Amino acid sequence: MQHTPSSLLSSVNSNFDAAVEKLGMAHDVAHKIKVCNASYTVQFGVKINGVLQTFEGHRAVHSDHIEPVKGGIRYAPDVSRSEVEALAALMSLKCALVNVPFGGSKGGLRIDNSEWTSSEREQITRRFASELIKRDLLNPAQNVPAPDIGTGPTEMAWMADQYRRINTTDINAAACVTGKPISHGGIEGRTEATGLGVHFATAAYIASDICDRDAFPQKTMRGVKVAIQGFGNVGRFAAQYMSEAGAKIVAIGEYYGCLFNDEGIDVAALMAHVAQNNTIDGFDGAKFSADSAQIISADCDILVPAAVENVITAENARLVTAKLIVEAANGPVTPDAEAILTRQGIAIIPDIYANSGGVIVSYFEWAKNLSHMKFGHLQRRREQGLNADLVKNLEDQNAVSFPDSFKEKYLEGSTELGLVQSGLQDSMISALAEISDLIERSQHKLSMREAAYMIALARIEERYKTMGL
Ligand code: NAD
Repeated sequence: MQHTPSSLLSSVNSNFDAAVEKLGMAHDVAHKIKVCNASYTVQFGVKINGVLQTFEGHRAVHSDHIEPVKGGIRYAPDVSRSEVEALAALMSLKCALVNVPFGGSKGGLRIDNSEWTSSEREQITRRFASELIKRDLLNPAQNVPAPDIGTGPTEMAWMADQYRRINTTDINAAACVTGKPISHGGIEGRTEATGLGVHFATAAYIASDICDRDAFPQKTMRGVKVAIQGFGNVGRFAAQYMSEAGAKIVAIGEYYGCLFNDEGIDVAALMAHVAQNNTIDGFDGAKFSADSAQIISADCDILVPAAVENVITAENARLVTAKLIVEAANGPVTPDAEAILTRQGIAIIPDIYANSGGVIVSYFEWAKNLSHMKFGHLQRRREQGLNADLVKNLEDQNAVSFPDSFKEKYLEGSTELGLVQSGLQDSMISALAEISDLIERSQHKLSMREAAYMIALARIEERYKTMGL
């Protein structure tokens, strides 16, 4: 996998400083919030096929103003301590912005997944997990990882199992990581949560009063042309839900090339193609170009970078034709690029809001694990009964018969997936309302990023104050 070297920390710090200034926050408090509380680097050995291999792993705790702290673990060949610290800072801000009761953390393992078999990756993951568990950096009450680039439900299941083996009497062991498979205590809808959240964020913005009506005359996603960079976990589900809402996915980029179809790419068919061939190349529902850079200048209304950081820079920002950029990835737009885009009138939905769906649903999963009960379990049958009585009475009294499709949906009652998606949508809509409210009443001309950072920083400051700091 191609992965750009990181100056993410300087981007995050620069955005942080801009928001602090607008907020008028005291320098000492701002400094305390800005710095990473603790950063752990481990070099551990794993014997594979008789050879002792050394791996480097990181776990940064940016802010533990609320515990547990939360944040994904990424597997990539160029993971660095500075990148992990930057991503941990984004997690503190993200959780505060969307009112999820976690501090911010992040982890990374320097590894090229393609060099190892699945069972070797399991050995490596279990050993890394043990190193983190020893230091309470993987623990249901203190530090709860999740998937990120290069990791998914399988890695989370290995980590949870490793925790359980070491902490055999911890009844809350399943809550030590999120993003697990359902069979290991995961929650319905977690895998697609970040992509669905990206869709909810975009739809909420387009319907809001802060949206540029010249750019988006209609308040819905219908007919809007979208280009997406990265067809991994986040990008593919963002594509799926936007497309289901009526948007046309006109371009999809990977590090080795792009697909284009002005009529809209069939996302489900492309997912099936990728599942079979492990590449977007060769898909017959769109034109393939081997020039991966073309995705940035694709002819579209919305550009969704959903791959890695620092992909829209001062060098290519002028090529963007979109009217809106939705930061599904963490840190895809550098501050220099943002200045250029702003001058061009291009709005940006910032990462700490746009991709917060993952941590929101991770929170639901963690709460489910602590309650030891599936969401909807208590109320579903009762709701079904009450709804069935209501429908029957309405039909009898009015001598009508409701359509079967309506009855099926209405009589279903609360399922776990339905509740998770409703909670996610509510969180995304509420956070956008707070961002737009601040933009509308501020004496400064605020970008969405500045407003989002200011809301998050004010919440963290309040927490520090009430802790007596
Ligand atoms: P992933 O590994 O599942 O997918 C990333 C995709 O991007 C892969 O298909 C990869 O081949 C492609 N890619 C890599 N470099 C590229 C490049 N230079 N150009 C085009 N494509 C490229 O990772 P993911 O989980 O989808 O994460 C993507 C981004 O979203 C990351 O920034 C991550 O931190 C962020 N994020 C992920 C989650 C989550 O729940 N997975 C939550 C919040 C934020």
